[in-house]
Amino acid sequence: KFNTNVGQHILKNPGIADAIVDKAFLKPTDTVLEIGPGTGNISVRILEKAKKLVAVELDPRMASEITKRVMGTPNQKKLEVLLGDAIKLDFPPHDVCISNTPYQISSPLVFKLLSMPNPPRCCVLMFQREFALRLTARPGDPLYNRLSVNAQFFSKITHIMKVGKQNFRPPPQVESSVVRIEPKVGRDRPAVSWAEFDGLLRIVFSRKNKTVRASFGTKEVLALIERNYRTWCALNNVVVDETIVEHGEGEGEMDEEEEEGMDVDMDDDDDDNNTAAVGEGGMEIDG
Ligand code: SAM
Repeated sequence: KFNTNVGQHILKNPGIADAIVDKAFLKPTDTVLEIGPGTGNISVRILEKAKKLVAVELDPRMASEITKRVMGTPNQKKLEVLLGDAIKLDFPPHDVCISNTPYQISSPLVFKLLSMPNPPRCCVLMFQREFALRLTARPGDPLYNRLSVNAQFFSKITHIMKVGKQNFRPPPQVESSVVRIEPKVGRDRPAVSWAEFDGLLRIVFSRKNKTVRASFGTKEVLALIERNYRTWCALNNVVVDETIVEHGEGEGEMDEEEEEGMDVDMDDDDDDNNTAAVGEGGMEIDG
């Protein structure tokens, strides 16, 4: 009996499980992290090609399923199962991440992988179609949001294949897609702090159909910037320049006319928390 509340939609088409693992271009020296191995349909294929598989599974019944499936085979030594929530526990170092992702954690998982100091070389992840489209959405696209910007800024994303719902048991309500995410490393990785850049995007995408300037003009954002500035001054032994902060106070909202002509195409579906994009936009697959 599968628990769809935790995204248990088991991949039943072996051709797709093969393709997911093939598209990760595994090397025999690779350590792979799999999120949500379930009954192990993808895991057994990874074990054939990699040096080691660390599989993180939330459901103890599933963790014992995959453990039993591999027990007594030559691959038993290569498998380590970690029982727990993939978003909460610290990931061990790994070269590649593969997952038929439980839909509830799509957004925090992508944020977690991309913000790692040493991200994996490549991630091959199955998502609900709309989430995959958000990852690859371009400016002007209604799906373009904070996730799109972050993901494309810090990685190269390729849509690999569409997967119909009939390939899962039980079938979800929506279609899925497999994407490959290759985090930028070394000189290709933008030399900005992840937290600061994401903080900027949270403000930029905070309000639907508002200009960037208007988002920066709200009392809340001005107060936030002032607090951050004061903290920064305290940490860096810099005297607060009261002339700057005084001007910031109370400027508040600007009027609509002022906003016109500054329009930036955006959508704030993914507003002020990391998981917001997951449950929105008709992405429910639970049945
Ligand atoms: N990999 C299997 C397959 O493709 O057939 C199962 C995929 S199923 C979509 C998602 C799996 O992730 C389930 O086994 C579920 O129990 C597990 N899961 C759900 N939430 C999780 C979480 N927060 N951390 C780790 N595993 C989770």
